Amino acid sequence: MAAQETVEHKYVYDFAEGNKDLKDLLGGKGANLAEMTNLGLPVPPGFTITTEACKAYLTTGREPDGLAAQIEAHLESLEREMGRKLGDPQDPLLVSVRSGAKFSMPGMMETVLNVGLNDRSVVGLSAQAGGNDRFAWDSYRRLIQMFGKTVCEVPGEEFEHALDDAKRAKGTQNDLDLDADDLRGLVDAYKKIFAKHTGREFPQEPREQLDLAIRAVFESWNAERAVVYRRQERIPADLGTAVNVVAMVFGNLGADSGTGVAFTRDPGSGAQGIYGDYLANAQGEDVVAGIRNTVPLQELEKIDKKSYDELLDYMARLEEHYKDLCDIEFTIERGKLWMLQTRVGKRTAAAAFVIAGQLVDEGLIDLDEALHRVNGAQLAQLMFPRFQLDHEFQPVAKGIGASPGAASGKVVFTSARAVELAAEGESVILVRRETNPDDLNGMIAAKGILTSRGGKTSHAAVVARGMGKTCVSGADELDVNVPAKKFTVAGQTVNEGDIVSIDGTTGKVYLGEVPVMPSEVVQYFEGELDPEQADDALVKAVHRIMTHADEKRRLQVRTNADTGADAARARRFGAQGIGLCRTEHMFLGDRRELVERLILASTDEEREAALAALLPLQRADFIDIFREMDGLPVTVRLIDPPLHEFLPPLEQLAVNVAVAQERGEDVAKEEALLAAVRRMHEENPMLGLRGVRLGLVIPGLFAMQVRAIAEAAVEVTRSGGSACPEIMVPLVGAVQELETVRAEAEKIIAEVVGDSGVEVLIGTMIEVPRAALTAGQIAEAAQFFSFGTNDLTQMGWGFSRDDVEGAFFWRYLELGIFGISPFESIDREGVGRLVRIAAEEGRAARPGLKLGVCGEHGGDPDSVHFFHEVGLDYVSCSPFRVPVARLEAGRAAITTTGSDSR
Ligand code: ADP
Ligand code: MG
Ligand code: MG
Repeated sequence: MAAQETVEHKYVYDFAEGNKDLKDLLGGKGANLAEMTNLGLPVPPGFTITTEACKAYLTTGREPDGLAAQIEAHLESLEREMGRKLGDPQDPLLVSVRSGAKFSMPGMMETVLNVGLNDRSVVGLSAQAGGNDRFAWDSYRRLIQMFGKTVCEVPGEEFEHALDDAKRAKGTQNDLDLDADDLRGLVDAYKKIFAKHTGREFPQEPREQLDLAIRAVFESWNAERAVVYRRQERIPADLGTAVNVVAMVFGNLGADSGTGVAFTRDPGSGAQGIYGDYLANAQGEDVVAGIRNTVPLQELEKIDKKSYDELLDYMARLEEHYKDLCDIEFTIERGKLWMLQTRVGKRTAAAAFVIAGQLVDEGLIDLDEALHRVNGAQLAQLMFPRFQLDHEFQPVAKGIGASPGAASGKVVFTSARAVELAAEGESVILVRRETNPDDLNGMIAAKGILTSRGGKTSHAAVVARGMGKTCVSGADELDVNVPAKKFTVAGQTVNEGDIVSIDGTTGKVYLGEVPVMPSEVVQYFEGELDPEQADDALVKAVHRIMTHADEKRRLQVRTNADTGADAARARRFGAQGIGLCRTEHMFLGDRRELVERLILASTDEEREAALAALLPLQRADFIDIFREMDGLPVTVRLIDPPLHEFLPPLEQLAVNVAVAQERGEDVAKEEALLAAVRRMHEENPMLGLRGVRLGLVIPGLFAMQVRAIAEAAVEVTRSGGSACPEIMVPLVGAVQELETVRAEAEKIIAEVVGDSGVEVLIGTMIEVPRAALTAGQIAEAAQFFSFGTNDLTQMGWGFSRDDVEGAFFWRYLELGIFGISPFESIDREGVGRLVRIAAEEGRAARPGLKLGVCGEHGGDPDSVHFFHEVGLDYVSCSPFRVPVARLEAGRAAITTTGSDSR
């Protein structure tokens, strides 16, 4: 036979050949097993089949050339090392077959343990264990169970039931009471179940068991639950999974054996200490499966001091090595400790900050790295009020934390009832199987939303996040019966009007009202907690990391605020100015009357009188804000929404007029209003007479606002303060619009400002796509740009925000048309491209042009990174998001090795 000349692709890596940085190729589990092996920790020998082999298998439907031979070669060397052959009847080598993708995915295939056992090798295994028949048959029944379930899709409950039957027959609850004969009988029962469901006998050939298990792991990448999980967690669909084949070690050999999990710090609080669980005489997942009660890891010290000390030593070494919290799986076989898994452990938001701070103290990482390890989403979570959970509160169900927050209220099952009760001042939780666009009003009225179906991209989840409303979705333990107005959970019935509490961060559902406590992180930002004094590791860590973020960031962070109170709060939260002060609310309340007069004016005199009456009111508004923002820039947007928004709705007016006429009252004014509303009615108000268009059509309106701004600035400055107003013209699409407004504004400013030293800038929003595309021209007339990314998204996509989010975004997310609503996080390729073009062309025309963003995206972590990259000067967001933006702006500015923090 001619020698094969082509260089073979390497699909299989011995543990000794890999390392922790090869996660793409070896998956997280495999890469870390290799790392531990190379650190000299006791890892049972084994090898990893790469994600590339998996991808090749999934694209072609068969194992790639060379894979079988490579597996054979690695198996042989494993057999040599262990001095045993796979499934050997006298002295069998057994292996586990474990999936392991780059990111840990609970939706993936589970592990198959004890591969290599059959009717003959089970006898050999017993002999190997000194005649321990019980152990051998227990291992065999576990193999059939796991193999059947995960490789051949036999329903797992059938095995569970057979196990329960065996325990019942024995009159026990504890699987340890089953003896060798019982387990032998169970193996027979399992084999029958296997044959019934698969139409074949349980495979006796060890190598066939191994190959089928490997193939099943490959295929599990595309199992539905894995696909759903990836979509939810935004994990790319084309990574594939690796397969780890590991020599078995046995925790079920007797009282001197066992298995456990451990954390190097508390993943809940970040506190240092020893956290974990241990279960004697058990294998694999018994620890987490809850079949018997585990003991706290500390108890191991009494049970097996030598192994315990060794474990603590390895934990310390792993932390030192990974420079982070690690979680660990281990097994003790007759007093010998084996390490079966480690990874950088998941943690709560609070623990993320605390641990990052501790690791800096310990000199393991620097502050840049600490900043890199936390994120804005975690900080935002810490800023929500939380449930105060004493022991009496146990969750009755756990769904998906779809939109964070803590909410308690009366259960309602329909949108209409939610609206009704909310109108009476009640807090309500809307409970549905799933929500649909008809539930929108109920969702708005409710304090929180709870559904029994659907994930993070369901209608309920998407809409709730958009509204900033607490939501738990997919709590599938709930049996919701809307017609009967009740749901059942954990054997209890909850009727309409009963109180439940939901935690949108953890996804937990409680019966009754759980007390809510304020966030200490917010108290810190408010200046109510002194980080130096506070006896609170979290506040200290947040303070330290925020301070570093502020030092590092290039982006300034401003706030959107239209009242002095909001401005003051935002300033405490670290805002460096106001990026968007909306003026429209200043035309509401008891000023409506003046606005109506303005709109109804039929002569210049009437209109001017209305404007003259509005002027001092506006001036007072601005004085208040300029005072709060003393010394910092304040961007004031001239009035933006269509005027009819300030008038009563058409239907209501029509009814009023009809009723008044009936009574024979004087309806002249109402009739005039009605006529005006009819005249101003627009089919697409978002694309209608608003923004700069309004200013160009209603004489004197913008002029009045400009005068109020300039006069307020002069007054604040004359009284010893410092006002830095920036006047922002909304909805400009052509430079001529801006030039016209600017010419008039400059005259007024020059006249008002005189020699007061006040400087007033005039700029524009870039929120119409045409403005972005002609930014070079517009920059000639603008002293600054502020990107209005809400409208830019709305007009860029042609989405009416008020209509589309609730209507069909959930479907778009399900289909993967976008991974996240473009209103939540900026669409980099499309809308982001408009921003990039406008920034570049604007600055080319006017070097040093000040650039900011004032859409909601200014407080979204991913978007902040984008705005940093395109070189904006600042982002502006709601007061509550200011700390998040500060943190993310800091993170955007540091360059690190960029380890994956998933
Ligand atoms: P998961 O990713 O679900 O944790 P694992 O592959 O880690 O799955 O395996 C499941 C359980 O089986 C774990 O408790 C693990 O420690 C145990 N296990 C895996 N391989 C072996 C082995 N070779 N010997 C003993 N126990 C093992
Ligand atoms: Mg594991
Ligand atoms: Mg706008």
